Amino acid sequence: MKFAIRDDDTCYFTTPEDLKNAYGDLWGKIPISLAVIPFVKARKAPYIPKEYWNTGKEYPIGENDELVSFLKREIKKGNVSIMLHGYNHEYYPQPEFVAGKNLKEKIIKGKRYLEELFEVEIRTFVPPSNTMSKEAIKAVKECSLNLLYYPTPKNRPFGIKKWIIFLEDLMFKYRERQCSRIEFIKNCYRFWIKRDRNIFMPVKPFIFEINGIKEFNCVSLTAKTPTTNVLKNIEIAYRYNGNFCLALHYHSLKNDIFREKFYLIMNYVQKLPNIKFVHVDNFFD
Ligand SMILES: [Zn+2]
Repeated sequence: MKFAIRDDDTCYFTTPEDLKNAYGDLWGKIPISLAVIPFVKARKAPYIPKEYWNTGKEYPIGENDELVSFLKREIKKGNVSIMLHGYNHEYYPQPEFVAGKNLKEKIIKGKRYLEELFEVEIRTFVPPSNTMSKEAIKAVKECSLNLLYYPTPKNRPFGIKKWIIFLEDLMFKYRERQCSRIEFIKNCYRFWIKRDRNIFMPVKPFIFEINGIKEFNCVSLTAKTPTTNVLKNIEIAYRYNGNFCLALHYHSLKNDIFREKFYLIMNYVQKLPNIKFVHVDNFFD
């Protein structure tokens, strides 16, 4: 099984210590795929210092010299890779890639900026807040990027392929459910309609492709996610010898309860035989 960590929200305000302290002993041992915001817009957010919240300005990550040189060194060592996480991560109040305008131009500009700054090729797009409009999905496709997203038919271009992928995914969830048939139907309702993230929903551990974009569905770890749900999905990916991507935020690791959850998961994974720790881009090779 291939295992990757996706870490969101690295931007102008991130310090090398924020990242190193978040991962402690794991830094340099397990690759971290950073979803980077190229031109973060200052607003109330856990990774932006309070004194900047009301400036209303955009801060290019390239202006944080200390962070840029640190990341360039870590990229060379293979400890870190860079993915594109929106453009400025603004809310209108809907997320940037739902309500924002000129999304294709923003992807092109953000991608080129990060590529020149870090001397890497950006291959994967990570939507801010994990939500996308029709225009956003189209823009990612036109920019030939891989995508971390759900196999949902919503906001996809017209066509049969998205429905086949969706139904195959649903069948997979049904087969891997750990409850009765009736309970599974109730869980689908609670998970998608009520957005109850306490519900365990199996995640298919394989790349899928719709309209020429390769995509993968990560498993998120938040303060509210039951650890057992993540472990159950790791167990599924392991059984299928598939891919598993744990999505989190470095700034969440400042919280002790969250940190405890994360280390419980990582201790479990590190004890499994035949685990290959990789960067997210590696899934798409
Ligand atoms: Zn984010």
